[in-house]
Amino acid sequence: MIQKSDRFRDFLLKQNNTWQLSADNYHGLDLVEEKTLLIDNFKIKVQFNPQRMRSSAAKVDASSIAARKCFLCAENRPPEQISLDLGQNFILLVNPFPIFHTHFTIPSNDHIPQRLAPNLKAMLEISRIMQGYLLFYNGPECGASAPDHLHFQAGETGFLPVESEFTTLKMREGNLMKDSDSLKIWAFDHYIRKMISIETDNSQQGIGTIEKILSRFQEIQSEKIEPMLNMLCSYGHGKWIIHLFPRKQHRPSQFYAQGDDQLLISPASVDFGGVFITPRREDFDKITAGEIADIFEQVTLDDIAFKKLKETIKRL
Ligand SMILES: [Zn+2]
Repeated sequence: MIQKSDRFRDFLLKQNNTWQLSADNYHGLDLVEEKTLLIDNFKIKVQFNPQRMRSSAAKVDASSIAARKCFLCAENRPPEQISLDLGQNFILLVNPFPIFHTHFTIPSNDHIPQRLAPNLKAMLEISRIMQGYLLFYNGPECGASAPDHLHFQAGETGFLPVESEFTTLKMREGNLMKDSDSLKIWAFDHYIRKMISIETDNSQQGIGTIEKILSRFQEIQSEKIEPMLNMLCSYGHGKWIIHLFPRKQHRPSQFYAQGDDQLLISPASVDFGGVFITPRREDFDKITAGEIADIFEQVTLDDIAFKKLKETIKRL
């Protein structure tokens, strides 16, 4: 795979020159198997990636989190791991268990809980700095394996099917909820999963819009510390493209099933972006388009709650 060269890619190469585990895992990524399934003409790539077991099977309940040392805090990070200051009180680390060919973890300097609303400004600013990369956020109850330490991740653009599918999706009628010179919002009911997409050249307006959506969503999921959401964000040609994936559940029933019925899949931003990660070979071999559609149905927001969000968006 041809990689563009930039200071972030250079940082990854520098890291892999001095950290064997990371270098081996990036090398191993070249051998990772992938297959593509089509659901309603949308593409889902399935990636067999055994290194992701620790993330997919991570115990993220409060007592398990409290019992382990935080791997994003400076004092607990491996001595080989180097960092790059990104400003906004965030740093760049190479993710040593990659899905993308250039895969970063972007933790806060402080050990503070994973929350989206207060950190939208930082997320948009970092994605502006990191053009050519897609930033993603996994909520504390839907995919973050360190829900106690605020962080984003980033990978090279062009890898997740949602990026190219969005350009055709947004041409379809009936999904455009808001249309002004500086901000557009679409809501998609039938993209296998529910998705809200925002395009804006004004970060203030973008942040304000997401805050309002989050605030309404928090009312719908009032029992949650934060409404369940995954977010993708990239910047290019002077504007941000943001995809929000509202959810009702973290893991599907297949995750907890026994024997042949089990599929060790724990959907987060990357899966919602169209790349399903299977850490076990048997799951990679047997998973079908029907099962992926079923998993999305279980974890994506239901129709009634999504309708409420759309009503809020229409009034913005
Ligand atoms: Zn920490």
